Order: sequence, then structure tokens, then C-alpha cells
Amino acid sequence: MKRVLSVLLVALACGFLPLMAKNVATANYAVIPLPHSVEAQSGEGFTLNSKTVIAYPKGNKALQRDANHLAGYISQQTGLKLAVKAGSAKSNAIVLSEGLKASSKDAYELSVKKDLITIKGAGASGAFYGVQTLRKSMPVGKQTAVTFPAVEIKDSPRFEYRGAMLDTSRHLFTTDSIKRFIDMLALHNINRFHWHITDDQGWRIEIKALPELTKVGSKRKGTCIGKEFEKLDGQPYGGFYTQAEIKDLIKYAADRHITIVPEIDMPGHMLGALSAYPNLGCTGGPYEVWTRWGVSDDVLCAGNPDVLKFIDTVLGEVVELFPSEYIHVGGDECPKERWKVCPKCQAKAKELGFKPGQHTVEEQLQSYIIRHASKFLTEKGRKMIGWDETLEGGLAPGAVVMSWRGEDGAIQAAKMGHDAIMTPVGNMYFDYYQTLDRENEPLCIGGYLPVSKVYSFNPQPNKLSEDEKKHIIGVQANLWTEYISNFKRVEYMELPRMAALCEVQWSDADKRNFECFSKRLPQLVDIYNNNDYNYAKHIFNVNGELTPNSETRTIDAKFHVIDDAPIHYTLDGTTPTVSSPLYTEPVKMGESSVIKAVAIRPTGVTPVFCDSVTFNKATCAKITLAEEPQSKYRAQGASTLVNGKYGTSIYSDGNWAGFLNSDMDATLDLGKETEISSADVRTYVCTGDWIFDITSLKIEVSNDGKEFTTVASKEYPIDAKHFEGVRNHVLTFDPVKARYVRVVATSLRKMPEWFMKTSNPAYIFVDEIVLN
Ligand SMILES: [Zn+2]
Repeated sequence: MKRVLSVLLVALACGFLPLMAKNVATANYAVIPLPHSVEAQSGEGFTLNSKTVIAYPKGNKALQRDANHLAGYISQQTGLKLAVKAGSAKSNAIVLSEGLKASSKDAYELSVKKDLITIKGAGASGAFYGVQTLRKSMPVGKQTAVTFPAVEIKDSPRFEYRGAMLDTSRHLFTTDSIKRFIDMLALHNINRFHWHITDDQGWRIEIKALPELTKVGSKRKGTCIGKEFEKLDGQPYGGFYTQAEIKDLIKYAADRHITIVPEIDMPGHMLGALSAYPNLGCTGGPYEVWTRWGVSDDVLCAGNPDVLKFIDTVLGEVVELFPSEYIHVGGDECPKERWKVCPKCQAKAKELGFKPGQHTVEEQLQSYIIRHASKFLTEKGRKMIGWDETLEGGLAPGAVVMSWRGEDGAIQAAKMGHDAIMTPVGNMYFDYYQTLDRENEPLCIGGYLPVSKVYSFNPQPNKLSEDEKKHIIGVQANLWTEYISNFKRVEYMELPRMAALCEVQWSDADKRNFECFSKRLPQLVDIYNNNDYNYAKHIFNVNGELTPNSETRTIDAKFHVIDDAPIHYTLDGTTPTVSSPLYTEPVKMGESSVIKAVAIRPTGVTPVFCDSVTFNKATCAKITLAEEPQSKYRAQGASTLVNGKYGTSIYSDGNWAGFLNSDMDATLDLGKETEISSADVRTYVCTGDWIFDITSLKIEVSNDGKEFTTVASKEYPIDAKHFEGVRNHVLTFDPVKARYVRVVATSLRKMPEWFMKTSNPAYIFVDEIVLN
């Protein structure tokens, strides 16, 4: 009899059942990405042993490949070498088939019974994802047999387009490494490999009709050192992929149901090509393949008819080579400096009748180039993808938008009836740091994108209607490789964030839960280890959360790890050991303290979690704000300002509360009459990011919380040039006894003219109010 155990199933999916204990050769269906439904069945399960065969329908090449992949995975993970055969089987077999009725070809059903495991896909790709689920449920380690508990799994992806982008222009990787990347995608049910293959720093695809592209355009004389763009390492760098290599990679990917979507970035990001064919630029050159990072002002000339021929030639060979329905033509970050002063560009704009209006003349020129590429691709039966800048100047019919500068590009495209792919920088740029501890990390471009933030992404914003949401066809993460010079670093930046990504791409929105995901992760990590992937381990560290408690006037430290590993902590600054106090409940700190914690596993001790709190008379006070911080920079809300913690020089570190178009107007209840004689407000200023300093500060006191008296106030000058850093504003006054203190720091409502001509307001960022 079939049992549907809804509560237990969550437990099952989260790996709580004792049956699923590790080190027993029993499969655990708590896989990533979480399937649509996993229903445990009564009755005996299936025992896989060396006699088990994998069967596929005779003559079905695609399922034969899926079967061979499964045999390979089983061999790699358990050492069991299974026979693969065509035809049917009645017992001790894993039977693959296709033809399941479903709206997605990637859907599958996986059924485990005593005699057989059957995987039925809608298409062969569906069977492949069933294979992946089966593989990910298997333990890793030499086995003589593996028991699969009886189960019925029904699964189908949330999004059809599940992508990952790898940049091979800034740095390139061997074809074997690219295959390893494709294997990583397959493990995570990703079906699009967006290959960024040309850029300012190197043209890396062989175009037979234009041999100079790779002969000249793939080589740079050196590479800048770190972030010092003008300093060169003096090492010539280059390389490209031949069409034969590319064909081999396309097949390798296709055999794993992955489509390679090539990107020829145009009309900007073209220095590689311009170096080879300088006549394609506005100035005629000479040009050099770039040795530094950033965006070059030199782009394709929009007024030169040879440019259109060049685009047709390149895209012609690209279309011949890549069977992908989608071809990416970039369209991002194209500076218009050259076009503004280029007679050919301006003449072309005049000829086309472009006049400044909603879009500048140069934006319309960009649109003209992109539309040309789009038309070419449409005629070849393909669809064009462009970055969200392609919205500027109007979208070509049928064009797909890849939204990277946030979600707005995708929202705008969807509202216009265009398909869009979500890849917003704040959630999907895997070149960002994975931890705030930058000192102990290899150099990254910046930012902060932990696994949890990838996981939290909602690709279908509520701003969209149900119909518009259907235009969000997928999600993708991007890895730009300016600071990633070898493939081990690629693995490190991708994993395990790719695990979070794949659940966003695949799993039902209403079933996603980070805690449940975290509990399933170690099982996937076993497979990472089995493949010797160099994954980042931050997610296994102790996570600490320090929260001010205004009832007890303490800062309460809560710790957690993604598994059941014991956590030990200290409050005396020493490094915790197994004999330090065991963490069992929130640790209450009533005075300035340093708290350290580690998790101790049989495999080792985690890096030390370390945090500190500094108490003053405002710490843990009851605090109310007239206006909340802006949602994006809310941190812990009002309590951020009295949590005894100072922010770092990263204003998104969670210790800074950001206010936009409002003041920081805080009223503190100190609980009882307290003598104070000074107030500090710390601010973070980064004018380049629209964060200016406070313009005034005022301190008022009261003993009834109603009538307030001003005890100090001061105005501050507005920055007259760029500034980035922390400022501390201290007001001292004659000692006064008060229970309530109101602190008002005003923000700039219109940024100064030297910075911006339009009337935008500036942010203010405050980390702490200090009373003494
Ligand atoms: Zn030009």
C-alpha cells in the first residue's frame, strides 16, 4: 500500500530519518536540487549489486548514453561496475525509458521497487535528470551493494533555461577543464553553458574566414597585476579554441543534455577583434589586446559598412558551429565616446534619421548594430540574447534579455512581452567574494555573495503579473575571470554556490528552504570530494548571529552549523577547543566581550568564528526609528544602531543601516534615568556610491518620552570632492540625566552639483549610536 507521508517526506528530504544514516550503504533521496515530490513507499526496496544491469530501449542512442553515464557514476561512486544492455529487464535492473507525458522534456519519474528501478523521462534529457537524482542519492565509497528504499519520485524543472556562464577571454582554460566544467553543470541539472568567448582581453574562437582574429586578437603582451591595471606581469598570454575543439566540446555537452550558448560580445568589448582588424574601429587604431580589466572605449565603428560584414561573417560561422537555439551577442557596456566624435558614425546616424529623444543618437546606433545581428540570427532560425543594455534604443523583435544590472531589465522585457533570463549581479555573480573575511581569500572583484544569498533569489518578482512571469524563462550565474587564472579557482568560485543556484533554477518556489537545503548539502559535497572538486568550505563554518536583547540588556549570540557538529565557544579571547564550553543555548553578553566559536567534526575543526561587542550606555537600549532604513540596507533594522557592533569598510556587511530620502531619527529608551555627556554617531561615506555624510546631528533628552530638550546640535559641511571612509561625529555636552534620548542625523536630499546634475537624494549609512 502506498503511503503518502507529507510530514515525514520533508524529514526524508532533509535527511532526518534514521534509515538514511550515513556510512550505511543506503541511498538517501535528500538530493539537490530538491525534486518536486518524493513519496516513500511501503515494502522492500531495491538492492543494487554487481549483477545489476542498466537497460535502455534498443536503438535509442540518447538513452544508451544516459545509461552509460549512470554506469560511470555508479562505478566512480561505489566501485560497482554494472553492465549496460539494450532491451527490457524484469529484475535486478535499472530500466531507462522516455515518453512520459509532461509539459517539460526534462521531467521524469523515478520508481524504486524490490525488483526494479525505473526511470522514465519525458525526453532523454528527463531520463538523464532521473539518472542524476539516482546518482546523487547514492553513498560515496567502495560498496558491495547499495540499498535503495522503495520510493516514487516525480520531478520537473521550474525553469527551462538553467544556465551558467564562464568567461574564457580574461583567462582561458584547457578543453579538459571545460569538460570538467560541463560535468559540474550536469551534476547540478544545468542545461545551458553560456560561453563568453570574446572580449577586450582576447578573442578565443577560431573564425576561419578571419584568421587574424586568433592569430593577433587572442594574444596579449601581459596581464595587469591584481587591481593595479597599469602594472604588467610581463608574461605574454594567449590561446584560443579551434573549431574542431569547439565541436568536440559541443558534443561533450550535448551528450549531457547541455547546450552551449556562445557569446560574441558586440559592439563593445571588441579590442581583441580590433587589434586584428583595426579598420573596424572608429579611429582605425592601432589597437592592442587589452592587458588590463575594465571596459575599453574602443568599440566597433557603427558607421563602417565593413563592421556589418564582419558581424555576418563571425555569426555565420558561429551559427554553423553551434546548434544552440539562442546565440548571445552581448550588447553590454558599450561606451559611446568614439561614436560621438566619429564622422562615419555620425553620418550613419544622420542617414538613418536618428534624433536625440528618449534615447540618445548613440544609443540608437547601438540598437542599429544589435538589430542587425538579431535579424541575421532570426533569418538563420535562431534567437538572439543580449545583456539588458540592449533594451536601450529599443529591442529587436523576438530578442531575449539577460538581466544583469539587477532585475529591472528582465522586468521591463517581460512587460514588453519579451523573454528574459535573470542573472542579477547581486545574486548571481560568482566572481564576488563568498565571505566577508577578505583577508584570507584569494583576490576577487569585490562584493559579497554567500551561498545563502544565491539561494534567497526570487527570479519571478511579484511586480510581474502571472502572465508576465512566464516570460522569465530562466536563471543563470556568471563567472567573470579577471581574477581567476586557473581552473581550480573556477571550481572554488562555483562550488557550492552552484548548488544553491540549481535549486533556484529547478525546484518549486514553495518548497525552497535554506535550512533544509543546508542539511542536504553534505551529501552533494561527498560527490564534490569524489570528483576532487576544489569547493569553498565557508558554508561549513560556524555561523554566528549577535542580537541585542532590550529586555535583558544583553547581546545574545546564537550559533549554528549546517549539520549536527558540536560547537564550542569562549568569551576570554582564547581559541576554543573541545574542552571549552559546549554551545547549547544563546550566549548572553552583558559587557564588552570577544566571543569565539568553532565546530568540531571528526574531519577537523572549522576556522574560528570571532566577533566582539563593545558596550556603551546606548547598547541594547529599546530603540524606535521615525523611518526604517531602506529595505536593501536594512541590516538588523533599528537594533543595528545599538547592537554594540561597528561596521567594516564594506557598507553591505550587515552592520550599517542605510537611509535614503529620510533621516536617521532614533529615540532610545535607556530603561532608567542615566547620566550622559556625549553622543557619537559613526557614518560611512562613499560618494561614488551615492553615500554622503550626514548634514547635521542633534541630541535631545527627555524623562517622560514626550517633552524633549535639545542638549547639543551641529551641522556638517557637504563633501566637495570624492571621499570614501568612516567618519565619527561626536557631540559633547554638560552631563544630563535622562531616560529617553533622541538622536537625529539628517541626510542630503539633493546631491551636490559637482557630483550630479540631477536632483537625486544621497544615502546616509550609520552603524552605531554611542552614548557615554
Ligand atoms: Zn565610428
